[in-house]
Amino acid sequence: MAKYDANCIFCQIAQDKIKAYKIYEDDQVLAFLDTNPKSMGHALVIPKVHHDNFLTTPKDIMHKVYDVAQKIGQADMNGLGAVGINILTNCYEPAGQSVMHFHVHVIPRYLTGERYQIDMKENLDDKNLPAIVKVIKDNL
Ligand code: 5GP
Ligand code: ZN
Repeated sequence: MAKYDANCIFCQIAQDKIKAYKIYEDDQVLAFLDTNPKSMGHALVIPKVHHDNFLTTPKDIMHKVYDVAQKIGQADMNGLGAVGINILTNCYEPAGQSVMHFHVHVIPRYLTGERYQIDMKENLDDKNLPAIVKVIKDNL
């Protein structure tokens, strides 16, 4: 299988062809804010290489993605004041997968039940987003 899929939006993010608010990056794994966040700090963790979903990703890479998801969840608790975290991944369209590149959602939950209302596609320069990225990074 090719390393990158030319039609895949997350492959384009992994290659820096599309902007994203990056939280974490190493040779194999990348984490960035979701453009349509369910809560403040909602992040996606992906392998840089294209694999369709959790079920089709080699174990070593899958484990590295979850290692980073754990670190970000801990940073959300310590830095953003989250009181709970949802870690989830959807496999195939019938289960709600809309981007066919393996990704793990890290969704912080807050006492207020706050839903973060800003759609980043419309507000890519939202002044709060770099601050959210900084708090998570500082707590990794
Ligand atoms: P899924 O529904 O496949 O589990 O999750 C896909 C997620 O990717 C959605 O939460 C959606 O908001 C997010 N998403 C889709 N396109 C982009 C994009 O171009 N950039 C970022 N940062 N997130 C995206
Ligand atoms: Zn891809």
